[in-house]
Amino acid sequence: MNNRIVYADNAATTRITEPVLQAMMPYLTENYGNASSLYSLGVKSALALDKARKQVSSALNAEPFEIIFTGCGSESDNWLKVFAKTLAKRGKTHLITTCVEHHALLHSMARLEKEGFTVTYLPVNKDGFISVEDFKNAITEKTGLVSIMFANNEIGTIQPIPEIGAICREKGIWFHTDAVQAVGHVPVDVKAMNIDMLSLSAHKFHGPKGVGVFYCRKGIPMDNLIDGGGQERGKRAGTENVAGIVGMGAAIEIAVAHMDEHAKKVTALRNRLIDGLLAAVPKSHLNGSRENRLPGNANISFVGVEGESLLLRLDQAGIMASSGSACASASLDPSHVLMALGMRHEEAHGSVRLTLSEENTEEDVDYIIQTLPGIVASLRAMSPLWESMMNKNQD
Ligand code: PLP
Repeated sequence: MNNRIVYADNAATTRITEPVLQAMMPYLTENYGNASSLYSLGVKSALALDKARKQVSSALNAEPFEIIFTGCGSESDNWLKVFAKTLAKRGKTHLITTCVEHHALLHSMARLEKEGFTVTYLPVNKDGFISVEDFKNAITEKTGLVSIMFANNEIGTIQPIPEIGAICREKGIWFHTDAVQAVGHVPVDVKAMNIDMLSLSAHKFHGPKGVGVFYCRKGIPMDNLIDGGGQERGKRAGTENVAGIVGMGAAIEIAVAHMDEHAKKVTALRNRLIDGLLAAVPKSHLNGSRENRLPGNANISFVGVEGESLLLRLDQAGIMASSGSACASASLDPSHVLMALGMRHEEAHGSVRLTLSEENTEEDVDYIIQTLPGIVASLRAMSPLWESMMNKNQD
């Protein structure tokens, strides 16, 4: 019996590494002081928060006071709603985003639409890129805020962020990017890329769950999200998750320090995986861009297969991955991202996302390449859809 376990769902979450855990431990045990308390135990926590704020800001090339600690990437995306009043007052009632954003962003936009904003949802091409021309054409006098994700969580496509940032800065439009999948994996520089606001989440780069950041450039007027005490400059009250924030600081510092080395290793593993699977499985294809893609992302469609069944069989074989069909919303609709690429329902339903990290090995990848094609073949043998497709091909 095979005992191999291969974790290939690093876009969903990552493992907390040993140095990150070690950094957090004192703040889960003896250093339990409230960072707002004036005695030394509290001061230790306050200093730990200061250090983490510096670690995060230097990773992004931001200033420490531009960093707001949040409870997750979803919260960070929801922060955009805080700017609605200021935008409306200025008559900036038009927003631009893409149709492949994470639901935290899309649902926030939908709420702003209910409050009277109009939103342009930019389409993407078959590789998942927006067109910069489409973007420029969508801008009106009333455009106040643009939110375009840095890298897509399903297909890994990296958008032309520096170009978009330059256009927004020139036109005086605020530019937010959901960089939850990008930070710690590819270079992100808020100054060089003219990014005004950014969302990130610690658990995507070997930090703990339940902690993130909303970066907001100095000078942009920001309302409060949570009223209460003076934490986070009064913008987001509530006693801080000190251990989580410390873990995030350690994780981002490590991720940035090792980014080149990790990206090189993970890209090679990912290419081995993609090439191996495409060669071994007939009627399979890669979703998303081959080049401008997150290092660890492989999203492949296996025509004639139900993604959910494939996942269950992979799990039985010790391989953890995720599918592009029924998602967290428990809906039977295929993923909005895959549909936006122009895929047919049956192709989108047969998609699997395998996301690697530097903790994966060539043996992990080879095990997936040895295991997955047999599962696809056996599922296809049982599939009426596959049979009818094959019959059609023989006609
Ligand atoms: N944005 C993107 C692109 C994501 O991939 C995710 C999580 O998968 C989120 C936002 C939400 O992050 P969190 O899980 O920390 O709420």
